[in-house]
Amino acid sequence: DPTHEPDGLLRRTGPGYLPGPEGTERINATLLALVRNEELGGMLQAMNDLERTWNHKFNYPWTFFNDVPFSEEFKKRTRAATKAECHFEVIPNEHWEKPSWINNDMFQESVKILKENDIQYADKLSYHQMCRWNSGMFYRHPALEHMQFYWRVEPKVHFFCDVDYDVFRYMHDNNKTYGFTITLYDAPQSIPTLWPETMKFIAEHPEHVHENNAMNWLTDRVRRPEHYNKANGYSTCHFWTNFEIADLNLWRGKAYEDYFNHLDRAGGFFYERWGDAPVHSIALGLFEDKSKIHWFRDIGYQHIPFFNCPNSPKCKGCVTGRLTDGEAWLNKEDCRPNWFKYVGMG
Ligand code: GDP
Ligand code: MN
Repeated sequence: DPTHEPDGLLRRTGPGYLPGPEGTERINATLLALVRNEELGGMLQAMNDLERTWNHKFNYPWTFFNDVPFSEEFKKRTRAATKAECHFEVIPNEHWEKPSWINNDMFQESVKILKENDIQYADKLSYHQMCRWNSGMFYRHPALEHMQFYWRVEPKVHFFCDVDYDVFRYMHDNNKTYGFTITLYDAPQSIPTLWPETMKFIAEHPEHVHENNAMNWLTDRVRRPEHYNKANGYSTCHFWTNFEIADLNLWRGKAYEDYFNHLDRAGGFFYERWGDAPVHSIALGLFEDKSKIHWFRDIGYQHIPFFNCPNSPKCKGCVTGRLTDGEAWLNKEDCRPNWFKYVGMG
């Protein structure tokens, strides 16, 4: 049986031991996907990409989450796509259901207005539930209790570059807690009160704000003043969380627990369409040491319609430096220059 050490290393000694390049030590980590049974095809495609470019060298387990049980076909075909272990987990109702304090009439009324403002998925209850679960619930699942790091993967995403080192070990050994590839501006109409609620929260809990925070990144108004204004003081620049490599202890700590509970009570996961991306990003920008956040420039990645495409012979199938294959206006959605300006390339 693996032994879980407090330093995050997973020491395998039994017959299930898979030798990694470092010898007997591996990081206590999993690939993680929230996915529906109907998305099996897209999941297999994303798995094949990540297994081919990276995981076949390291064999980190996959953990799949669903609000309903996985089908036998889903289990069989994902298992066949990797040499690593696969775990299939059902989300408990109390993590997924709309909380009791959310008023249904108010929810219906609010999403009507959001829809009129062209906010995608606003009228889909399950999308709000998904955003809330990804914000503040996934790490509470018992299956992750002994995990330290995860790499979030969505169906249909692409990975383009051969990556030869253990990225979890990189995070662990370099004292990084969060890794991203793409940052984008958000639709301000989806989060009008997120920043005001955040300001209320830090007025009540100034002790949670880290001394080496990225507040100036969160509040940049120079490049997209209309976003800053409509979001009431937040630039809307966020880590695009369909890709994230992170330390679960970020979310398990007191600062994030207090922050999430405050937001959850405020109701914006339902009355607005707060995404896990701005919620995670604001929390990281305020409560984490910004030097612990890493841009994985070397992981070629696509979630439609955006790419992170490094200039390297190790990458196949994406165009170097291009953010999007789509319409030109989409290029304006990239806010990585803000991150580099306020925090740096590290
Ligand atoms: P988008 O990336 O914002 O367009 O949203 P997606 O439709 O890709 O959803 C984000 C992730 O959550 C994907 O991995 C989906 O498979 C997953 N997801 C969204 N809604 C549900 C749901 O109701 N049930 C389950 N099991 N997964 C969901
Ligand atoms: Mn998606």
